Amino acid sequence: NMPVVVLVGRPNVGKSTLFNSIIDSGQKKAIVTSISGTTRDRSYGTATWLGRQFTVIDTGGLLGLNVRHQDPDVIVNHIRDQTFVALQEADVVIFMLDVHEGITTHDIEIARFLRTRIQGREEKKVVLVVNKADNVILKSEETLKQFDRLGLGSPLPLSAVHSDGVADILDRVIEDM
Ligand code: GDP
Ligand code: MG
Repeated sequence: NMPVVVLVGRPNVGKSTLFNSIIDSGQKKAIVTSISGTTRDRSYGTATWLGRQFTVIDTGGLLGLNVRHQDPDVIVNHIRDQTFVALQEADVVIFMLDVHEGITTHDIEIARFLRTRIQGREEKKVVLVVNKADNVILKSEETLKQFDRLGLGSPLPLSAVHSDGVADILDRVIEDM
């Protein structure tokens, strides 16, 4: 049974771009697009880092977590349900944000859920990643400190399109495997 790593975060932050760059070659890639909400279901892949192999699950992106609230858009509900299924399977959760967007109310809601349920009750590791940090200013401590208030530790900067920052993230992911 391989460890399971799940990618969550709002649509368009770059989850599928990271998924595609870390999965072992020869597997089906996730769709990357600037159109939000393209991944409706979960995409599975396997990845290897420093000789350790794990399953990676790309999700459709979380807009909100209140399961009792049924969104008028059935697709939104479906994506959220699919993401919950993925979180149940997770050993490690990568929570991704977009440096240009900063923290939204949705992110605060997701962070609280990850802190209390995933990190707290289920004792799973949560790795906070700030993507689209494409230059030195965007990945500076000065820029990243705003994300500390999510209560998930200091974020790791990433530029998924340039595969810059991937090594540090995967080091953290496999730390306790
Ligand atoms: P997802 O919805 O979270 O899966 O996001 P995608 O991986 O589909 O990416 C959404 C958009 O963000 C696409 O247009 C990507 O090319 C773009 N994107 C992804 N990673 C980066 C990055 O590191 N820097 C920049 N500037 N754009 C990125
Ligand atoms: Mg995607």
